[in-house]
Amino acid sequence: GSPPGALEVRGLSVGYGPVRALRGVTLDVPAGSVVAVLGGNGAGKSTLLRAVSRTLRHHGGAVAEGSVSYDGRDLHGTSAARVVAAGLVQVPEGRQVFARMTVADNLRAGALGASGGRAAAKRAQARVHDLFPVLADRAHQRAGLLSGGEQQMLALGRALMSDPRLLLLDEPSLGLAPLMAARIAETVRRINADGTSVLLVEQNAALALRLATTAYVLDVGEVALHGPAAELAASDEVRRRYLGVV
Ligand code: ATP
Repeated sequence: GSPPGALEVRGLSVGYGPVRALRGVTLDVPAGSVVAVLGGNGAGKSTLLRAVSRTLRHHGGAVAEGSVSYDGRDLHGTSAARVVAAGLVQVPEGRQVFARMTVADNLRAGALGASGGRAAAKRAQARVHDLFPVLADRAHQRAGLLSGGEQQMLALGRALMSDPRLLLLDEPSLGLAPLMAARIAETVRRINADGTSVLLVEQNAALALRLATTAYVLDVGEVALHGPAAELAASDEVRRRYLGVV
């Protein structure tokens, strides 16, 4: 069987009615790694994360073929809630923090799906406050009043509250100034160093390739290239198409 903590996607195809969003995608996230998925608008990056987190069914009659397995177990038929309990937690595109709730309540909400109980939630909160001191300072403010970068920190912090084994990150740098994007990237690196695997979907290829061990390039639903991140960063095609180097 496969090693514990490995995510394996095999021949995944997803259609939304007539739109074929993914075609035969095969991808691995070995335990402990950071894997980046690059690609432009509409390449299928969000669809891939939805298929892994089992949230596709909330999106316009999506139909999936192929398999997604974690810890050697096929996730087919597993509910989104169980996927979270198994340790796979998604940080959605656009953060989607609960704007009218306080920062502290957003974090508490993140612990709801977790299996660890109160003591675990306390430990997770201490870790989140250590990674993002601003979330402790602003604990009693409404989340909607935070800056975009702080909301991204909160979205990451909320995901960490359930002590995930694999984080699914959808465009964490989207809309952030370069300095803030770099801070988020640095935090993702620390989270990974603490033992959490990361599947990172990004349009910011330069940032993603600096963070990742392995990368995949999606082009209209298909894996066009994959390999060690350093190799992709050096490839002419990637440099031209995704890194804006002429
Ligand atoms: P973006 O960066 O713009 O979010 P993406 O790489 O994440 O792009 P997806 O959002 O996965 O790409 O979309 C892949 C394709 O599937 C696109 O053609 C998109 O229009 C289509 N699509 C995505 N969600 C739906 C939906 N709920 N209903 C119908 N088509 C959809």
